[in-house]
Amino acid sequence: MFTRNKGNVGTYREEPGWDVADQWGGAGRCYWIEEALEAEGPVESQRLEEPMSADVAIVGGGFTGLWTAIELKDRDPNLEVVVLEANICGAGASGRNGGMALNYWSKIGGLAARIGKERAVWLADQSNDAIGELDTITRKHGLDIHFKRAGWVWTATSESQLDSWMPTIDSLKPYGREMYRVLDSEELFKYTQSEIHLAGVIDETAATVQPARLARALRTIALEKGVKVFEHSAVIKHDRDTGLLRTRLGSVRAPSVVLATNAWLSGMPELRRATVLVGSDVAVTSPLDPKGELAKSDFNSGVAVTNGRLTIRSGRTTADGRIMYGHSGGGLSYKNRFAQKFIDDKEHAAINLREFKRFHPRAGDVKVTHTWSGAVDRSYDGLPFLGELPGRSKTYYITGISGNGVGPCRMFGKMLASMVQQKQDEWTDCGLVQGVTIKYPPAPITYVGGSLVLSSVNKVEDAQEEGRKPNPVDKFWTRFTPQFSYKTKDLG
Ligand SMILES: Cc1cc2nc3c(=O)[nH]c(=O)nc-3n(C[C@H](O)[C@H](O)[C@H](O)COP(=O)(O)OP(=O)(O)OC[C@H]3O[C@@H](n4cnc5c(N)ncnc54)[C@H](O)[C@@H]3O)c2cc1C
Repeated sequence: MFTRNKGNVGTYREEPGWDVADQWGGAGRCYWIEEALEAEGPVESQRLEEPMSADVAIVGGGFTGLWTAIELKDRDPNLEVVVLEANICGAGASGRNGGMALNYWSKIGGLAARIGKERAVWLADQSNDAIGELDTITRKHGLDIHFKRAGWVWTATSESQLDSWMPTIDSLKPYGREMYRVLDSEELFKYTQSEIHLAGVIDETAATVQPARLARALRTIALEKGVKVFEHSAVIKHDRDTGLLRTRLGSVRAPSVVLATNAWLSGMPELRRATVLVGSDVAVTSPLDPKGELAKSDFNSGVAVTNGRLTIRSGRTTADGRIMYGHSGGGLSYKNRFAQKFIDDKEHAAINLREFKRFHPRAGDVKVTHTWSGAVDRSYDGLPFLGELPGRSKTYYITGISGNGVGPCRMFGKMLASMVQQKQDEWTDCGLVQGVTIKYPPAPITYVGGSLVLSSVNKVEDAQEEGRKPNPVDKFWTRFTPQFSYKTKDLG
């Protein structure tokens, strides 16, 4: 047993291709992780300190790794499943995201283009069920993840964002689905409490959760089911022929290995061009005055609010009445490797603070108490790739979850479990288990070009929101924005 730290991960590299989340991290400034660890109290935590073997070893203790472990144990309680987490479970994106659980219906156009219409509908329906499962499974184990199914309001905060949801609504028509209801101005204000929102629609199936509580709950459930979870046990070497994973103090030999390390997977040579890591920044305030209008309003009901920017801005409140403000589309990293700015990006935190006041004019004198950053592994079409890496033992991976993982990781756990069991079923046949089918250009080109396009998109969208005419040169560069931005709605 050891004392855990506050769960804030950086990176170091020991072996080419293995980007390893730092085991000890810096001071935790992520509100969600602090709140979850405080609520959890002291827990026993194991570090891998000896050689061992298992049937399945999962690298990464976020939503994906933990759901995979839980699913495998549910299917076969006799299976020896080990999770190796570099820091603490939930220290990666899973504990530091916006906590907005959305289904895949907002991605239906891109999904149908990648996997065909029939599979797209099936998967979108599964993603809706996954949201409910977050609640039912954690509740069954007596764990409170602050689940609230209050819906997702998708708004326009500039004239040019008006009707940005129409392509999605239109793409739902052939399936006879009506996921979105147009809000009149009164309802829009009821949910947003800010005149900055000009129009909007609501998807009432969406939910919000306290994401770090969800990650920690999954850890507890996995342990209860007999999964061996080792924290502060970063994998520093992996022999894909023998299935031997090494940590600093121990090792696991397993015929099947699942790589669920998300942003840290971008260092793996075969997967390097599958995603671009994009920074995403979050700010959380002190609690609102409980007697104030904002605290008593429907904005404080658990609703998720996002606007129609490509570099999305999002807002919600926490269970104790704080405002969380999210800002996607931060910087890229040179060579597409996990960088310090994906933990704490001072430049974007400052932008976040300036914008926060504009988005929440009724916030009064609340103070921003926490700011932090995270990395989103964006694939070209905003959808993940699942596959197997070469080697004599079995190594499975998922990459490119693209900022929509809170609900969907439940499904990815089922896909990875079926891959491990080498089953041909609806999960392995869903169309996403085909390896990396769309690649970005090599890293230097993507970094230079991507940074230019991203900065132009931000400038154009800022100008549009502030009622200024965008610079034509910036506007020109926005034409090169990857497809994902137009076809899908991601939150990170
Ligand atoms: C700021 C931000 C906001 C977001 N907002 C939303 C949102 O509102 N809604 C939504 O649906 N999605 C959102 N996302 C995306 C969502 O958080 C992710 O898709 C999801 O958490 C991915 O889970 P994961 O388990 O795959 O990855 P992670 O949670 O990142 O887990 C990977 C784990 O691997 C560990 N690791 C890395 N290297 C090693 C190693 N060598 N050995 C052992 N362990 C290792 C890390 O420590 C980490 O814990 C957001 C993401 C960010 C960054």
